[in-house]
Amino acid sequence: RIRLLTEYKDQETVTKSGRRVRLCANVGSVSDVAGALQNGAEGIGLFRSEYLFLEADHCPTEEEQFQTYRLAVEMMAGKPVVIRTIDIGADKRAPYMEGEPFHLEQETNPAMGLRGIRLSLEKEELFKTQLRAILRAGAYGEVSILYPLITSVEEFKRAKALLKEVEEELADFGIPCGKVRQGVMIETPAAAVLSDLLAAEAEFFSIGTNDLSQYTMAVDRENPRTEEYFDSHHPALLRLIEYTVKNARAAGIPVGICGDLGSDESLTEFFVKVGVDELSVPPSRVLPLREKIRNID
Ligand code: PEP
Ligand code: MG
Repeated sequence: RIRLLTEYKDQETVTKSGRRVRLCANVGSVSDVAGALQNGAEGIGLFRSEYLFLEADHCPTEEEQFQTYRLAVEMMAGKPVVIRTIDIGADKRAPYMEGEPFHLEQETNPAMGLRGIRLSLEKEELFKTQLRAILRAGAYGEVSILYPLITSVEEFKRAKALLKEVEEELADFGIPCGKVRQGVMIETPAAAVLSDLLAAEAEFFSIGTNDLSQYTMAVDRENPRTEEYFDSHHPALLRLIEYTVKNARAAGIPVGICGDLGSDESLTEFFVKVGVDELSVPPSRVLPLREKIRNID
């Protein structure tokens, strides 16, 4: 079986009827990037940058972040890399985050608390440091930035304004950086419902089905007792996905799926049919999914 799958490593991801899908990998570290390449990923569709922070014993400096992002980008050798800004909250934290610059506190409802883009917009210097590191890595390849847990157009505009500030600062100092595209994670029902308005502001969408499921069905994604309510094919979820893809296509921006649902082969035809441009999945799922897509008529 494994030998058979390696045959798909260098093949195109295209259906029998000629529809191309970009098949990318989700990673949390540079060693995952190696796994993505070994499995023939066409890019990194989701670099979960928070792992860099969670695995450290201090807040990574701009230079430390830059070196990591740059290495990932260089390893991908021209293939696109989407770096998600830190998606940290009271449920995903390291001990040092009680202090500067995070000041994370216990929350009774962390999934709905100060996390993702909310934390970044509140801790502006932390956010700008990360944006600088990403922009600098952009000088070494095709880099995009993805903002997590967006719930309004306003939040996305604020993030974009901060990126512009940082870009100007880097230019003033003559520091090399690349032109990066900015995308919105559609992982809250609010973002999906506003996807027509967000599409007018964004350069791409990436649908985070893990959180989108959690918030749509009001089911804690970590709680084993509510597992039976976590219906990954819930019609409300599929409608939100379809609506989001429709709005992205109407605005002419690419849309991908980066949550676990992206590797659910019983939905691959649905995704292709509604017009999803990209699927980003764990490295080990890339080859099976390529086989699946190449067999869709
Ligand atoms: C998601 O929510 O689907 C997603 C891809 O992000 P994470 O799993 O890191 O929350
Ligand atoms: Mg998420």
